[in-house]
Amino acid sequence: MKGFVDYDAWTVQGGEKPGVMIILDSGHGGRVSGMYTTAPAKMFDFGDFVFEEGVQNRILVKQLAAKLKANNIAHAFTTISNYDESLDERGVKIGHIVSSYPKYHFLVLSVHANAGEGSAHGAEYWTTKDLNDSDYAANFIFPYLYDLGFSIRINRAKPNEYDKEESWKILRLAEKKGCMAILMEMGFFTNREEALKMLDGEWQGTAVNALYKGIVDIINKIRTDGTIRPT
Ligand SMILES: [Zn+2]
Repeated sequence: MKGFVDYDAWTVQGGEKPGVMIILDSGHGGRVSGMYTTAPAKMFDFGDFVFEEGVQNRILVKQLAAKLKANNIAHAFTTISNYDESLDERGVKIGHIVSSYPKYHFLVLSVHANAGEGSAHGAEYWTTKDLNDSDYAANFIFPYLYDLGFSIRINRAKPNEYDKEESWKILRLAEKKGCMAILMEMGFFTNREEALKMLDGEWQGTAVNALYKGIVDIINKIRTDGTIRPT
């Protein structure tokens, strides 16, 4: 279908118990008929090149999905579209997935790149305000983020700020459905150095591997102990 990426969409792979399913969330929209659907927001024009965040998010999610598939790790998507589907719509999809697979533990991984003033830089992840399973899951991904070559920050979104930054809403929608949820900001696309790095195929492979290694550790922990929490 026109405007849709070639993800293996709703086919859920794997099914071991206790099962862990990764729900991949590509932030914003991609390109449809040559037009960036989230323009002029979520992009940065450096003059000699343009960084389109939604396109970048899809590149990473697609590569990560291929790796999960190759390793028989259950996964699904909040969107398989290049259109800029709303957070609410993606939340509804999370609900469908969760209710269809009641025996699974779910991790929603929302993939983004960040925007900020001039020198703002670094990768960071966001979880919700209070310490919960999402934070324990994020702890497993955290060490691998150093592979990205950027400085790293850890953040917790406050409930009263969910409306300030629209993307954070996915965390609340996911946790309401009982999922662990982490929003990754892989780097600052408004920072020339980081934008160039993020567009580099080798960096993308490294970034995908970093997320993948964290996911594998999360799955192993849950398979061993039945919980992501320290035991
Ligand atoms: Zn974003």
